[in-house]
Amino acid sequence: MDFSLTTEHEQLRQKMMEFAHEKLSVNSIDRQFERDNWQRCADEGVQGMPLPSLYSNDEAKDILTSVIAMEGLGYGCVDNGLLFALNAHIWTVQMPLLEHGNTQLKDRYLKKMANGELIAAQAMTEPDAGSDVFSLKTQAIRHSEGYVITGSKCMISLAPIADVFLVFATTNPDAGRWGVSAFYVDADTAGLTISTPTKKMGLDTVPMASLRFNECWVPESSRLGPEGAGVGIATSALEYERCCIMAGQVGRMQQQLEQSVEYARTRRQSGQTIGKFQSVSNRIADMKLRLELSRLMLYKTAWIKQQGGSAVMECAMLKLHLSEMFLASGMDAMRVHGGYGYLSETGIEKDVRDAMGGVLYGGTSDIQRNIIAGMLGL
Ligand SMILES: Cc1cc2nc3c(=O)[nH]c(=O)nc-3n(C[C@H](O)[C@H](O)[C@H](O)COP(=O)(O)OP(=O)(O)OC[C@H]3O[C@@H](n4cnc5c(N)ncnc54)[C@H](O)[C@@H]3O)c2cc1C
Repeated sequence: MDFSLTTEHEQLRQKMMEFAHEKLSVNSIDRQFERDNWQRCADEGVQGMPLPSLYSNDEAKDILTSVIAMEGLGYGCVDNGLLFALNAHIWTVQMPLLEHGNTQLKDRYLKKMANGELIAAQAMTEPDAGSDVFSLKTQAIRHSEGYVITGSKCMISLAPIADVFLVFATTNPDAGRWGVSAFYVDADTAGLTISTPTKKMGLDTVPMASLRFNECWVPESSRLGPEGAGVGIATSALEYERCCIMAGQVGRMQQQLEQSVEYARTRRQSGQTIGKFQSVSNRIADMKLRLELSRLMLYKTAWIKQQGGSAVMECAMLKLHLSEMFLASGMDAMRVHGGYGYLSETGIEKDVRDAMGGVLYGGTSDIQRNIIAGMLGL
């Protein structure tokens, strides 16, 4: 067993760190989505990373390589919102299209999603269908060579600025979850209303909104996969999401650790540096342990997915562990910095607010535990 990264991986991670540090961090404290940063990422090949050269400017990167690149991006970029937005766009909308779309649908969207022209969002959650996602009520009823979609979605990341949505709706309400189908719906479709941005705790640079579909007609060609394939598509998209969406946070955890070590070495109280107090150094040792375990789980899970094996259990464990560890590390970084960690100007408290979103989206930590327990036969 060889745990070392290849030279190619090391170089890519370094390249992403430098790119993010030089090009993405400048305005991140403004706390709103910046289209320029999105475009810079597209020009750097971030959105197109797992796509073949037919749709991007490069050969497709495998999943392990992609998460290592994201880790580098996360190390260099303090904007967790941008990292989340990129990953949501890539893994929850682009990947389902690459894997399940026909040539016509891929040609319509993938190139523009990769080159920064289009921002894509996934619309699954509804007011009465959160964790119990396949109890959704939005309907897509067949009508004149297409479908009429009626219903509503909430907590949709990127919705206020998205150009296209991957929408899950039922085409056969009597069939329960097996009646769910998936559609790509353009934001300017007649009858689709996007609410004003929803106020929230963190991830400030990712605007969120609700969607209202009032008899929106979409052509049959907008359907992803066959009718009733929505559960399979959503399940595989969720697996990608749980595997990859938080890869950037490993880079952020490395940053938090380095920042905390530096502070503990230099901040003096009671005649000594605070790192000499065992309660402070123990906390930092725990941060290091969390980081290393998270990184190992990330690489291993990505590697399993890359081999084509089923990674349902591993993806659930990774999402659960990484999201909770990022939250815990953020809290510890704040404690190490004392009252200064609580001040917005230091940027340390922001990570905690951003991290809280991670234990909720893509299935809450409770849901990940349910999946793990279920796989154990409980
Ligand atoms: C930052 C952020 C970004 C998001 N982005 C998107 C997006 O882009 N697209 C999208 O479609 N959705 C998005 N969501 C919505 C997200 O997927 C849901 O919030 C999540 O699935 C939980 O659903 P809910 O909020 O309705 O909570 P509920 O399902 O009502 O859960 C409430 C509580 O009950 C617990 N619970 C519920 N069911 C069970 C169970 N079976 N076993 C044990 N505990 C349970 C939960 O863990 C939670 O503690 C986002 C959410 C957040 C916070």
